[in-house]
Formats: sequence, structure tokens, C-alpha cells
Amino acid sequence: ISRPQEDFDFFYFVLQWPGAYCDTNRPCCYPTSGKPAADFGIHGLWPNYNDGSFPSNCDPDSQFDRSQISDLVSSLKQNWPTLACPSNEGFKFWEHEWEKHGTCSESVMDQHEYFENALKLKDKADLLQILTNSGINPDDGFYNLKKISNAIEDAIGFTPGIECNKDSERNNQLDQIYICVDTSGTEFIECPVLPRRRCPTRVQFPKF
Ligand code: 5GP
Ligand code: 5GP
Ligand code: 5GP
Repeated sequence: ISRPQEDFDFFYFVLQWPGAYCDTNRPCCYPTSGKPAADFGIHGLWPNYNDGSFPSNCDPDSQFDRSQISDLVSSLKQNWPTLACPSNEGFKFWEHEWEKHGTCSESVMDQHEYFENALKLKDKADLLQILTNSGINPDDGFYNLKKISNAIEDAIGFTPGIECNKDSERNNQLDQIYICVDTSGTEFIECPVLPRRRCPTRVQFPKF
């Protein structure tokens, strides 16, 4: 079988800490199913180029089709919850991620595989467990960035990208964690390039 060559170099698998999303200057809304678990949630699986740039919205003809992922919806609600307002079930977030990012990896996976692979990757890297095992807890405390990074690297074998944002008191807080994944969407790899937004040496791990 001949397939089109994939037109990206790797994926960022991006997880968001809900305590940071909901503790910035913007509003957050819980999904209609209620307050999500105090756990990292999936933000997206993003095709990327080695130079740091990335493709987006690659196929306007491939619209999000919720009937293709009906078997995954309960797991998506649990592991890929939306925190945007107004409150909704999550389909808007998943649709946005599919259309902006997923359509750029259609040469290697279809819509069902895209969401299924993201869910499997989250199972492979239980970031909250990894951090709490190293004494890094979401307790509003401040932690050394290197300690956070090393805990993840020791557990998964690769250096993560870590992004911070600022809360209303201007504290830098742990916001998103990026793990790089090969073009099959299944194996972690060393990042060819790390995300631009960085953290200072001490970061707050806010409660959720
Ligand atoms: P922000 O500018 O808030 O960091 O990112 C806005 C959006 O741009 C993200 O939600 C994501 O869709 C996209 N984006 C930002 N940085 C990257 C990146 O390094 N790689 C990819 N593939 N997408 C990104
Ligand atoms: P990006 O373009 O950064 O991949 O995705 C961000 C878009 O998804 C925004 O339009 C945002 O409103 C929507 N969105 C819905 N739920 C969430 C969420 O829980 N986290 C983030 N970061 N964006 C969300
Ligand atoms: P800036 O350097 O302008 O503060 O932000 C760089 C990027 O990070 C922007 O694209 C912006 O959308 C994103 N950003 C800034 N603050 C936050 C935040 O609190 N949460 C998230 N998820 N993204 C942010």
C-alpha cells in the first residue's frame, strides 16, 4: 500500500493543568458533566516541524464527525475535559483540535485513531502520579523547575517541555506539559525542539 508521505516531523502531546487554566485572569467553566478530576487533561496532539513551526487546518473537507468517536466519548470526557466557557460537553474543544491539528496528520491516522492515540498516550504517561511520587503536589506550593522536569524525564525517558502562565498575583504557575511523540502517534521521543513559552526556576503548582 502506498501512503502519502507524512508532512510533519513529530507530534507534541500537550497536557494542561486545570488548576492553572482556572487560576488566570480569564474565566473557566466546568464541562456539563461536572468538575473534572484533579488531573492533567489532554489539550491536544499537535503535528509539528523540527524548526518549531507547525501546519494547521490542513483539510477543510475533513470535518469533525462525532459519530466516528462515539465509543471514545466517555473516556474523552474524563481525560480530555474542556474548561472553556460557556460550559459544554467538550465536543467543541475536540472539534477544534481535530480541525486545527488532527487534519494535519491524516496521512498517518484517521479521526478515530487520532483521538484513540491521544488517550493511549495519556495512559502511558501518568504525569500527576509521576510528580506526586517525587513529592511535587498540587498544593499551591512552589517547586524547582528542574526538579519537575527531572521527575518526568526519569519516568518516561525523555525531556518534557514545560510552560507556565501567570495568575492574577503574577505567580508563575505550571500550566502545560509537552511530550514529543513520533509520527506514528504512539512512541515518546526526545523533542527536536522545545516550546517557546518557558518557566522561571521556581514555579507554583496550583490547587484544583
Ligand atoms: P498560544 O499562542 O496560546 O501558546 O497557543 C495558541 C495555539 O496555537 C495553541 O493552542 C495551539 O493550537 C497552537 N500552538 C502554539 N504553539 C504551538 C506549537 O509549538 N506547535 C503546534 N503544533 N501548535 C502550537
Ligand atoms: P488551541 O488553538 O490552543 O489548540 O486551542 C484553544 C482553543 O480551544 C480555544 O479556542 C479555546 O477556547 C478552546 N478550548 C476549549 N476548551 C479548552 C480547554 O480546556 N483548554 C484550552 N487551552 N482551550 C480550550
Ligand atoms: P505572551 O508572551 O504574550 O504572554 O503569551 C505568549 C502566548 O502564550 C500567547 O499566544 C498567549 O495566547 C499564551 N498565553 C499567555 N498567557 C496564557 C495563559 O495564562 N494560559 C495559556 N494557556 N496561554 C497563555
